Amino acid sequence: MSAQIMDGNAIAEKIRQQLEKEIADLQGKGCFPRLEVILVGEEPSSKSYVAMKQKDCERVGILGQTTRLQEETSEETLLALIARFNDDAAVHGILVQLPLPGQISEEKVIAAISPDKDMDGFHPVNIGRMVAGADCFLPCTPAGIQELLKEYQIDPRGKHLVVVGRSNIVGKPFAIMMMQKKPWANATVTVCHTGSGDVRPYTRQADILVAAAGRPAMITADMIKPGAVVIDVGANHLDDPQAKSGYRLVGDVDFAAAKEIASAITPVPGGVGPMTRAFLLKNTVKSAKKFHKLEGLSRP
Ligand code: NAP
Repeated sequence: MSAQIMDGNAIAEKIRQQLEKEIADLQGKGCFPRLEVILVGEEPSSKSYVAMKQKDCERVGILGQTTRLQEETSEETLLALIARFNDDAAVHGILVQLPLPGQISEEKVIAAISPDKDMDGFHPVNIGRMVAGADCFLPCTPAGIQELLKEYQIDPRGKHLVVVGRSNIVGKPFAIMMMQKKPWANATVTVCHTGSGDVRPYTRQADILVAAAGRPAMITADMIKPGAVVIDVGANHLDDPQAKSGYRLVGDVDFAAAKEIASAITPVPGGVGPMTRAFLLKNTVKSAKKFHKLEGLSRP
């Protein structure tokens, strides 16, 4: 039997429609959510991610502005811009598109953004709060995956959830969120990485398997327990002269084979990616409400 396809585009659209209404209501109360995105350099995928974020903001009514800085921008210049946005009461959210050119320390930049305006949820204060299960801005990709599970009524509670990948932006925060004693979490979590050696013995035990390794099609059908839920975070650009863009986006899962063994699966594109984008909007609205003392922050 073929797996249920978890449609991230549809769920993200539903979130945008809800936000559109919510933002119209906030505007009526004198609150105009505003997100400042900073892009340094000309990296093609970063440029395209930033363009999509800008479009999403326009769609729902967030004042989304992008500052484009040259590749050779100094760390000092970028930090000064962040400080300016931190001090600007009209700005509710700041996002610096990663990766940054080599002359700029990502660690310093992330730490320079006010935790109250940290829309990626990467600031050490937000990470610490997330680990403690306290109020915070959740990182967009893990939060988007949790929302997708919720929408499809796939409750991680009591399940063995295996994450392949331990990056600070996906694998690690998602594993932490899923082990919390909270609704739509409370799973038994295993995290695999390159130090795990052969990951098969772990992936084959997963009731919910999350692939976030950045390795095209590394998860093959024989690595999946029959009936498992498979979340493919991978967004790998493969050269494709036939494609208009010159590349093709593929996930970390061999989708065609995996969908014949899984009970539910996310496609690439159209699975986790749109949910990540939707969560950036959600975080921005939450921040705007907090600034205007209209609502508290979410808990992981
Ligand atoms: P990353 O920083 O490169 O981390 C990859 C992780 O996977 C590392 O922890 C690495 O282990 C592990 N790994 C790599 N190869 C492995 C293997 N053969 N066996 C076991 N573990 C392996 O990547 P990331 O930023 O987390 O992103 C992962 C993927 O998700 C990428 O394709 C990225 O483009 C995509 N992504 C998508 C979205 C979205 O919204 N759809 C958002 C973010 C990222 P070590 O720690 O041992 O090196």
